[in-house]
Amino acid sequence: MTIIAGGCLCGAVRYQAELAPQFAVLCHCRDCQRISGSGHVPVMGVPKSSFVVRGETKAYAARGGSGLAAVRHFCPVCGSLLFGTPEIVPEIVSIYVGSLDDPPVFKPDTVLFARDRHAWDATAGPFIEYATMPPPPK
Ligand SMILES: [Zn+2]
Ligand SMILES: [Zn+2]
Repeated sequence: MTIIAGGCLCGAVRYQAELAPQFAVLCHCRDCQRISGSGHVPVMGVPKSSFVVRGETKAYAARGGSGLAAVRHFCPVCGSLLFGTPEIVPEIVSIYVGSLDDPPVFKPDTVLFARDRHAWDATAGPFIEYATMPPPPK
Protein backbone atom coordinates (compact mmCIF):
# COMPACT_ATOMS: atom_id res chain seq x y z
CA MET A 1 0.00 0.00 0.00
CA THR A 2 1.38 3.37 -1.00
CA ILE A 3 0.62 6.39 1.15
CA ILE A 4 0.49 9.84 -0.42
CA ALA A 5 0.62 13.08 1.52
CA GLY A 6 -0.02 16.72 0.92
CA GLY A 7 -0.83 20.00 2.55
CA CYS A 8 -1.38 23.70 2.16
CA LEU A 9 1.02 26.47 1.28
CA CYS A 10 1.60 27.65 4.87
CA GLY A 11 1.85 24.16 6.41
CA ALA A 12 -1.04 24.57 8.89
CA VAL A 13 -2.94 21.68 7.26
CA ARG A 14 -1.47 18.31 6.32
CA TYR A 15 -3.23 15.19 5.07
CA GLN A 16 -2.45 11.68 3.93
CA ALA A 17 -4.29 8.94 2.12
CA GLU A 18 -3.82 5.64 0.40
CA LEU A 19 -2.84 5.88 -3.26
CA ALA A 20 -5.87 3.94 -4.50
CA PRO A 21 -7.41 6.31 -7.05
CA GLN A 22 -11.15 5.86 -7.50
CA PHE A 23 -11.05 8.44 -10.27
CA ALA A 24 -8.51 10.86 -11.74
CA VAL A 25 -10.09 13.78 -13.57
CA LEU A 26 -9.55 17.31 -14.77
CA CYS A 27 -12.67 19.31 -13.93
CA HIS A 28 -13.28 22.42 -16.01
CA CYS A 29 -16.61 23.37 -14.41
CA ARG A 30 -17.21 27.03 -13.63
CA ASP A 31 -17.29 26.38 -9.87
CA CYS A 32 -13.82 24.81 -10.00
CA GLN A 33 -12.58 27.69 -12.14
CA ARG A 34 -13.87 30.29 -9.70
CA ILE A 35 -12.71 28.64 -6.50
CA SER A 36 -9.22 27.99 -7.85
CA GLY A 37 -8.80 31.10 -10.00
CA SER A 38 -7.67 28.69 -12.72
CA GLY A 39 -8.93 26.98 -15.86
CA HIS A 40 -9.55 23.61 -14.26
CA VAL A 41 -8.88 21.64 -11.10
CA PRO A 42 -7.12 18.26 -11.17
CA VAL A 43 -8.93 15.91 -8.79
CA MET A 44 -8.09 12.43 -7.53
CA GLY A 45 -10.63 10.40 -5.56
CA VAL A 46 -9.26 8.34 -2.66
CA PRO A 47 -11.08 6.11 -0.15
CA LYS A 48 -12.33 8.20 2.79
CA SER A 49 -11.43 5.26 5.07
CA SER A 50 -7.74 5.89 4.32
CA PHE A 51 -7.85 9.68 4.57
CA VAL A 52 -6.36 11.45 7.61
CA VAL A 53 -6.17 15.22 7.99
CA ARG A 54 -4.25 17.21 10.60
CA GLY A 55 -5.06 20.87 11.21
CA GLU A 56 -8.23 22.91 10.90
CA THR A 57 -9.86 23.46 7.54
CA LYS A 58 -12.69 25.71 6.51
CA ALA A 59 -15.32 24.32 4.19
CA TYR A 60 -17.57 25.81 1.58
CA ALA A 61 -20.53 23.88 0.22
CA ALA A 62 -21.96 24.54 -3.22
CA ARG A 63 -24.63 22.57 -5.01
CA GLY A 64 -22.91 20.38 -7.60
CA GLY A 65 -24.18 19.17 -10.97
CA SER A 66 -25.86 16.25 -9.20
CA GLY A 67 -27.99 18.60 -7.08
CA LEU A 68 -26.13 17.41 -3.96
CA ALA A 69 -23.56 19.50 -2.10
CA ALA A 70 -19.95 19.56 -3.24
CA VAL A 71 -18.02 20.59 -0.14
CA ARG A 72 -14.58 22.10 -0.74
CA HIS A 73 -12.11 22.33 2.13
CA PHE A 74 -9.38 24.92 2.30
CA CYS A 75 -6.79 26.28 4.72
CA PRO A 76 -8.24 29.19 6.76
CA VAL A 77 -4.76 30.72 7.07
CA CYS A 78 -3.38 30.66 3.53
CA GLY A 79 -6.48 29.83 1.49
CA SER A 80 -5.05 26.79 -0.30
CA LEU A 81 -7.74 24.58 -1.80
CA LEU A 82 -7.02 21.09 -0.43
CA PHE A 83 -9.74 18.46 -0.84
CA GLY A 84 -13.43 17.93 -1.32
CA THR A 85 -16.06 15.74 0.28
CA PRO A 86 -18.74 15.30 -2.40
CA GLU A 87 -22.12 14.22 -0.98
CA ILE A 88 -22.80 12.19 -4.11
CA VAL A 89 -19.94 9.78 -3.25
CA PRO A 90 -19.74 9.90 0.57
CA GLU A 91 -17.14 7.11 0.74
CA ILE A 92 -14.63 9.18 -1.25
CA VAL A 93 -12.46 12.22 -0.58
CA SER A 94 -11.45 14.15 -3.69
CA ILE A 95 -7.92 15.49 -3.36
CA TYR A 96 -7.01 18.65 -5.29
CA VAL A 97 -3.81 17.38 -6.81
CA GLY A 98 -1.81 20.60 -6.69
CA SER A 99 -1.72 20.25 -2.89
CA LEU A 100 0.07 16.87 -3.04
CA ASP A 101 3.73 16.62 -2.10
CA ASP A 102 4.26 14.50 -5.22
CA PRO A 103 1.74 15.60 -7.88
CA PRO A 104 3.18 13.29 -10.59
CA VAL A 105 1.49 10.30 -8.87
CA PHE A 106 -1.70 11.66 -10.46
CA LYS A 107 -2.51 9.98 -13.80
CA PRO A 108 -5.62 11.73 -15.14
CA ASP A 109 -7.71 9.87 -17.71
CA THR A 110 -10.92 11.92 -17.88
CA VAL A 111 -12.03 15.50 -18.54
CA LEU A 112 -15.25 16.71 -16.89
CA PHE A 113 -17.24 19.75 -18.01
CA ALA A 114 -15.40 20.01 -21.33
CA ARG A 115 -18.17 22.43 -22.39
CA ASP A 116 -16.78 25.00 -19.94
CA ARG A 117 -13.13 24.58 -21.00
CA HIS A 118 -11.42 27.68 -22.37
CA ALA A 119 -9.25 27.73 -25.49
CA TRP A 120 -6.29 28.90 -23.39
CA ASP A 121 -6.59 25.89 -21.09
CA ALA A 122 -6.16 22.97 -23.49
CA THR A 123 -4.79 19.86 -21.75
CA ALA A 124 -2.79 17.09 -23.42
CA GLY A 125 -4.75 13.84 -23.61
CA PRO A 126 -5.75 11.30 -24.56
CA PHE A 127 -8.67 11.73 -22.20
CA ILE A 128 -12.22 10.50 -22.09
CA GLU A 129 -14.15 13.76 -22.30
CA TYR A 130 -17.62 14.50 -20.99
CA ALA A 131 -19.49 17.70 -21.80
CA THR A 132 -20.56 17.74 -18.14
CA MET A 133 -20.56 14.63 -15.95
CA PRO A 134 -20.56 10.97 -17.04
CA PRO A 135 -24.03 9.45 -17.19
CA PRO A 136 -25.03 7.66 -13.96
CA PRO A 137 -24.42 3.89 -13.91
CA LYS A 138 -27.46 1.85 -14.98
ZN1 LIG B 1 -2.25 27.01 5.00
ZN1 LIG C 1 -15.56 21.16 -11.13
